[in-house]
Amino acid sequence: MLGWQPELRESHALGLLRFGEALRSLVQRPVQRMPLNPGASVAVIGAGAAGLVAVRIFRDAGFRVTAFECSETVGGTWNYQDVASEPDLARAASRRLESTTTTETPSSEVFRQVPEQTTRLAALPPVQSSIYAGLRTNLPRQVMQFSDAPFPEHLPSFIGHRDVQRYMVDYARRHNLERHIRFGVWVQRVQPVSNDVWSRYLVTFSSSKSPEACTQAFDAVCVCNGHYSVPQIPAEPYSEPADGTEYIPGLTDGTFCPGVVRHSHYYRDAEKYRDLRVICLGAGPSGVDISLEIAGYARKPVYLSCRAVKQMPSDSATEQYGVLQVPQLVAVIGPRTVQLADGSILHDIDVIMLCTGYRYSFPFLTEACGISVTLQGRVVTPLYRHLIPVSRWTLPLIGIPYAVVPFPLFEFQARYVAAVFQGRVQLPEMNAMQAAILEEKQVQQSFGLLAKHFHRLGDRQWAYNRELADAVGVKGPTLAVQSVYNDAGTHRKLDPKHYREREYRIFGDGPEDWEVQSPAMVQLDAKSSKKGKHPTRSKEAAIETSAEFSAGL
Ligand code: NAP
Repeated sequence: MLGWQPELRESHALGLLRFGEALRSLVQRPVQRMPLNPGASVAVIGAGAAGLVAVRIFRDAGFRVTAFECSETVGGTWNYQDVASEPDLARAASRRLESTTTTETPSSEVFRQVPEQTTRLAALPPVQSSIYAGLRTNLPRQVMQFSDAPFPEHLPSFIGHRDVQRYMVDYARRHNLERHIRFGVWVQRVQPVSNDVWSRYLVTFSSSKSPEACTQAFDAVCVCNGHYSVPQIPAEPYSEPADGTEYIPGLTDGTFCPGVVRHSHYYRDAEKYRDLRVICLGAGPSGVDISLEIAGYARKPVYLSCRAVKQMPSDSATEQYGVLQVPQLVAVIGPRTVQLADGSILHDIDVIMLCTGYRYSFPFLTEACGISVTLQGRVVTPLYRHLIPVSRWTLPLIGIPYAVVPFPLFEFQARYVAAVFQGRVQLPEMNAMQAAILEEKQVQQSFGLLAKHFHRLGDRQWAYNRELADAVGVKGPTLAVQSVYNDAGTHRKLDPKHYREREYRIFGDGPEDWEVQSPAMVQLDAKSSKKGKHPTRSKEAAIETSAEFSAGL
């Protein structure tokens, strides 16, 4: 028998190591199979705007589509939900401590633990929608619609949330989509069956009718679960670096009591704030809208606490609207007392209204799906074109970009995904996808965007949509739409309370093919001319305007 020489042993060990490596790389390297066959099964998670348009496009592309929707109707966040009592987060941390000392766990039917960060806070009620009673869109309907489904002509440009919901119900009926949707069904788990980029998936779900979980295999899964249902609550120290959301000491540990802390996600009605002293934190679309609404009832001024950028015309905001913009709220330092970034202290505050946005959350995706949510819920990674996971091409996530016109963007994304599934669009190799993501990050940095704003497209949405449209051979967004979007954004900044009085008409595709006429326009243009601007400036310059505006939900 040949005795093993040390060097032989070494080379044998090396050989084994190499074999192991080769095996691992074989398993890890995606087998470049063909995309999906006609008639392949596709699951869609969610039947909001993104889910509906995905169902329609995938079905029309010849796939067998099943959508899972946890509520009993279509519409997603536009499906208004009453909230009997808005949860108070002021003692959330201590309530959580109390609840961990008992064996009582809230029933999943009544309370759903909000995933990730807030699992360490109190259990929050399972509210999917973040629509409040008085919400009107912050974009004209003329730019919001799906490509072949205009909103009814009799509606004003800025419409109420019920009209948007009705639009989606009509869209689903007209295209016979409801037959593909399973209502009242929660997806619990999505598990890939292989390491292949074209892997199939096992989808586990349960329904209110039969709580026993079922599992079904699909050739692809398209995630359209929305991202306005898990509130961002800046209440816990984070382990991640500074450019996420700041921690506000004292916010949820009882320090603020008897004052209350709320989140805009649960806000429904301004009247509840009658005669109260309110500070809204976060000056995104929710902060601006809600502070203006509340100012109609609350003690004036309502404080709007924001980072550096002012969201309202500061000279006139307090006088005209009853809203005073103040520096960022950095700490709760006592009962009903807060400290701002400039060191000033506000006393006798009854309510802190957090308008701090939302977190992406995909509690049903298993680790094997290879998708991470980083920077305190702000970034989903690694996604090629903010859409397709680098190593999971049959698991696209529609609707991740924000500060966009959402419905058309969902439609372009769905068309692109359908073309990828059909093999009409070839995706690049994984390393080229990674390189594209890196390049995108660098472009963003060059625009001064922070890493947490990776999915914020703003002005870049037009190029993004056009790239997707070109790839699949459909018409991209028109310059008229782009120009109207910018015009609405400009006027929103000039007069956040009255810009919705503008009525738009689009009559062609070109940058000049639209008009607006309304009392608000006359009033605002008069203001601009006082400042030496030409009254018709908005139309001519709108196409170039850098309107980094968040769009409708
Ligand atoms: P958002 O757009 O994410 O805005 C949240 C804001 O809060 C951001 O500016 C964020 O700044 C800021 N923020 C977060 N933590 C903060 C802190 N600790 N201190 C100071 N500022 C903080 O969320 P949103 O306003 O709720 O809007 C969500 C979506 O709903 C948007 O798509 C919007 O268009 C839509 N929406 C529509 C309407 C309408 O149609 N009428 C009304 C409301 C909302 P950073 O990003 O720098 O962290």
